[in-house]
Amino acid sequence: MAEPRDAAARRAIKPVICYPTDTLPKPSLSLYQDAARTATKVSEIIVSPREAASIDVPAGHFLKISCIDGPQVGDLNLFNSANLTERFFSGKTRALHGTHVTTGDQLWSCFPYLRPMATVSNDTLGWYGIDEFGGSVHDVIGTRCDPYTGKVLGGTDYHHCCHSNLTRALSDARGLSLQEAEPLVHDVLNVFMCTGFTRDTGQYFMKASPVRPGDYLELFAEIDLLAVMSACPGGDCGSEHSSDTAACHPMLMEVWKPAEGSLQGWSSPPLNSYDRTHGR
Ligand SMILES: [Zn+2]
Repeated sequence: MAEPRDAAARRAIKPVICYPTDTLPKPSLSLYQDAARTATKVSEIIVSPREAASIDVPAGHFLKISCIDGPQVGDLNLFNSANLTERFFSGKTRALHGTHVTTGDQLWSCFPYLRPMATVSNDTLGWYGIDEFGGSVHDVIGTRCDPYTGKVLGGTDYHHCCHSNLTRALSDARGLSLQEAEPLVHDVLNVFMCTGFTRDTGQYFMKASPVRPGDYLELFAEIDLLAVMSACPGGDCGSEHSSDTAACHPMLMEVWKPAEGSLQGWSSPPLNSYDRTHGR
C-alpha cells in the first residue's frame, strides 16, 4: 500500500498523554513511609519456586515482597478479601501510571469498583528507571504465563505456569474448586520482572531481572486485601518461562502493621462514586 502524500506530517503529530494524572488524589507517601518505619511484622509466607502462596493484608498494613535467595520474578494477584470480584485492574493501572510501577504509583481495582487497592510505598529497584532497550521493572503489561498459550505455541501441557499456580493457591485460600477459582485469576503485577516493547517490532520482551537478595517491593494496603503470588517458572525471566528449565528461587511475602496512631488522616478509599446509570 502506497503512503499518502502527507504521511510524514501525520506521523509528526505530537502525542498527548491519554490520562493526565494531575487531578488524581495523591497518596500521602511520607505518611506511609513514616508509618512503615514504626511497623512490626504480623505474618509471613514463603512462596516456593514454581508455586504460588497467599496472604491476607488488612487495610492500613503493608505487604512487603522480598527477594531472598536469588533473582526471581513474582506474578501478583490482588483481591478485595471480602469480595473476590473486586480485583486488580492491570490495564487501567497501566493507562494511569504507565507500563511499569514504582514508589507513589497506585494499584487500581476493576470496574465497577475502580479505586486504589494499594499504593507502592517503597521500591528498592526504583533506581533502575528505563534502560537503553526501553526496559523497566515491575510491569503491568504482561498477563501471566499460562498453559493455554503454552499449548498453542508449544503443544505441551505445563501445569506450573503462574496462571495455574495462582488458580491452585486461590482455591486453597478460599476453599474454592479449581473451576470456581480459575475465572477469578486476573492479569498480574509482574513484581521484579524487567520488560518492555522492542522499538522495531513492538514485541513484548523480557530480560534478566536486576533484582538481588535483599531487594523488596512494599505495598500499602488501601483496602482489606488477599494477595496471591506465584514464583514464576521463568525464574529471573532472562531466557524462558512455561517450563522447568530456568533456575527458580523462593520469595517472601510479609505483612507489617504500623504502630497505633501512625496513620493519622488516612482513611480507606470508598467505592467509585459513578452512579452506574450508563445514560439510561
Ligand atoms: Zn509466570
